[in-house]
Amino acid sequence: SKMLYNDKIMERENLIDIEDRGYQFGDGIYEVIGVYDGKPLMLDEHLGRLERSAKEVQLTLPDSIGDLKNKLLELVAGNELAEGIIYMQVSRGTAARWHEFPKADVSPVTVAYTRAEDRMTDVENEGAAAVLTEDIRWLRCDIKTLNLLPNVLAKQKAVENNAIEAILHRGETITEASASNVFMVKDGEIWTHPANNFILNGITRRKVLQLCDELNLKIKEATFTVNELLDADEVFITATKLDVVPILKVDNHMIGTGIPGEATKKVLQAFRSLYQQNVKK
Ligand code: PMP
Repeated sequence: SKMLYNDKIMERENLIDIEDRGYQFGDGIYEVIGVYDGKPLMLDEHLGRLERSAKEVQLTLPDSIGDLKNKLLELVAGNELAEGIIYMQVSRGTAARWHEFPKADVSPVTVAYTRAEDRMTDVENEGAAAVLTEDIRWLRCDIKTLNLLPNVLAKQKAVENNAIEAILHRGETITEASASNVFMVKDGEIWTHPANNFILNGITRRKVLQLCDELNLKIKEATFTVNELLDADEVFITATKLDVVPILKVDNHMIGTGIPGEATKKVLQAFRSLYQQNVKK
């Protein structure tokens, strides 16, 4: 299969240097973009977030966003990807290993590749379990950086407990999950943590909020506690390609009546029509 390496689309091979700062420090940023029927979904929004992440870590993107977008579309076409994801990252480049930024003549290293992946229709329809774990991450979770060790440890805990996700809490406050955003429904209102430095403002999250608005579902972008989550009528998570997944159990607590709730199903349905429309365009 093909990869993007800086500004070239080429056959996939290992070109990363051992002193790539992404490899040594996690010094870089990334995006994961869903592809449905050969079409990336919300590509502009993902590239917008990449630009923001770059700015927040003082990394100058080597290509214009327009060029990058065209290369990613070329990559998807070249790999004949129908269903799956684009992974892309930009590291601060390759230089002798010192913590401070390398000299200005060191260019960032951009890579992207695609991975075929089925839609998660079953889990979206049937729901899944989650576990709770303390959010031990840093204070800039709004930046999509390559530093994911706390997320890796949290997800591993989930998998070891036959759960799809680890829902994170900072003290009593639910923030998000290891690789998705968390929503709860209580008395007809949809709650999710505000988009501040404690969470990644998911592209799916933003779209779901917009869809809720269109569906006349009441939204509260406000914090809620672990106990409020456990006492919710419905809980769901959102992320690229995972879309909207009902959470029916958190640790040993059943959520609501233990089946996917009405609000969650409405949101999932609305999200599905969104990418079906995107394909038709
Ligand atoms: N939070 C975290 C920590 C994530 O890693 C992700 C992405 N997998 C999300 C939320 C969801 O973001 P998006 O909807 O943009 O995929």
